[in-house]
Parts: sequence; C-alpha cells; structure tokens
Amino acid sequence: MSRIVYVNGSYLPEGEAQVSIFDRGFLMADGVYEVTTVIDGKLIDFDGHFARLERSLGELDIRNPMDRNAWLEVHRELVARNGVNLGMIYLQVTRGAPQDRDFVFPDPATTAPTVVLFTQSNPALVDSPKAARGIKVVTIDDLRWGRRDIKTVQLLYPSMGKMMAINQGADDAWMVQEGEVTEGTSNNAYIIKDGRIITRALSNDILHGITRAAVLRFAREAQMPVEERSFTVDEAKAADEAFVTSASTFVMPVVEIDGVALGEGKPGPLATRLREIYIEESRKAAI
Ligand code: PMP
Repeated sequence: MSRIVYVNGSYLPEGEAQVSIFDRGFLMADGVYEVTTVIDGKLIDFDGHFARLERSLGELDIRNPMDRNAWLEVHRELVARNGVNLGMIYLQVTRGAPQDRDFVFPDPATTAPTVVLFTQSNPALVDSPKAARGIKVVTIDDLRWGRRDIKTVQLLYPSMGKMMAINQGADDAWMVQEGEVTEGTSNNAYIIKDGRIITRALSNDILHGITRAAVLRFAREAQMPVEERSFTVDEAKAADEAFVTSASTFVMPVVEIDGVALGEGKPGPLATRLREIYIEESRKAAI
C-alpha cells in the first residue's frame, strides 16, 4: 500500500513526493533528522525529539521551519493517515535547495529549509524476536567526524559499519576510539558489571540519545546504579551483560562482542528488566 508522506507543507502519496536535485541534503548531507517511535498509535518522547531537533538545527544555523505544535500536528496526521499502530516517524530538515551548488550557505531569506516526513510500520517493535535472542556486535574503529552530538543525515560510515558487522555474521557494530567504545552504529552502548550500568558520558563524541536519557532515568528510579563513563573493549568483553538503546529498538540486549559470549550468551536479567520498564513507562507517557 502506498504511504502518505509529508513534503514542504503537503500530504502526498509517496510516489508523487519530490525534492530538488539541488537540495543540500542530497548534495552535501546538509541536514538533520529525527526518528520518533509510535506505540499504540501514539508518540514516545515527542518533546525530547523536538528539543534535540531544535538543538541540531541551531548548531548548524538552519532555521526551524515549524514550532512544536505544528510538528506535533504533522506527526499525528501522518500516523492517522497511514494507520500506524507500531512503528516510527522519520523527519528530515535540510538547508534547502539553492539555485546552484555552492559550499557557501544560501541566504535563508531566499532558500527555505526542506521538510520531509514519512512513516514506517514495524509490527515486531514490542514483541521483538531479536530482543528475545539478543544481538551480536563486532567492534570497529570510529571514523566519524567530531560533532556526533548533532543528528545529521551523514550516515555513510555508520551504514558501512553495519555492513562490516553483517559480513562477519554479527548484527551491529560498536565503534571504538582510543580503545574505548563510543556508541553503536545507530544506538547508544552500555555494559553491566556487578549490577552497575556503565555507559559513556555525554559529549560531542556521541549522540545524546533520547532513549538513553529515559532508560538512565528509569534505571535510577529502580535503584540500579548508573556510571556515566567510558569503557574499554576488554572491559565490555568481561561484562556480565550489555545492551544498546535507540528509539526504534528500545533496550536491545547484546549477547556477544567480537565473538566473545557475555554471561550465558543470552539476554541478561537487568537488560531484560530495563526493556520491560522502558516499554511500560513509554506506553503510559506516549502522547
Ligand atoms: N547513537 C547514534 C549514532 C544513533 O544514530 C542513534 C539513533 N538515531 C542513537 C545513538 C540513539 O538515539 P535515540 O535514543 O534518540 O534514538
């Protein structure tokens, strides 16, 4: 079935939606995005994603073309028009399409940002077979740029990293800088040792995950100790459990790192519990 998507103020069948070949998102990856999860037809952490969108746009000096309520209305309209119950909404804002290709930013008075949103359904979002068995990760060098806190659409290296993992029979890659794990290709990375949850502190080295913020809050509320600090690959391989978080995978247990099984090689009890808490609390708070 053809989706209804949103492009620059219009709701259109996906096959009729168009963006200029001069769009700086297309030519230069000059744009940012957000992914918001839909559960029971409602949005998880909409305000967190909106706040991060504003921050990403601000860091790149791109004008936010809509206010919070306008963004919320487009999200809800797309959920309704596409009958999404479980899945996600992808949104992208680029610096727009100037007349010519040029490294210099176009004048915002004459070049408006391009706005695109679309939905994707995922019936296995909550009852996920992957979460039941846990994922395997491999480690790779982190070769990305230095502003990973901005959620830009330059996803080539993370995409290559995912392929490196798949080609080695794993599910995903953890990126490593100076011996320490930064994050997964599209998620934040955690280990658990002696009941303590360890994850890299926020900085320009990683994306400030909206799911990370929620999961750390729920963990602290459940009296699980949290340490926001870097950890090495060796420390990760010796951990009791590990997991990753993202809007589209919630809390996803990791059962193997570079071929080394963690614990019993199946999802650990704390990661499993955190996934349950996250889903339960997000369901209650979704709007
Ligand atoms: N790190 C990276 C590199 C990501 O791409 C993502 C997901 N887009 C995350 C972390 C997780 O962020 P969030 O919880 O907001 O989805």
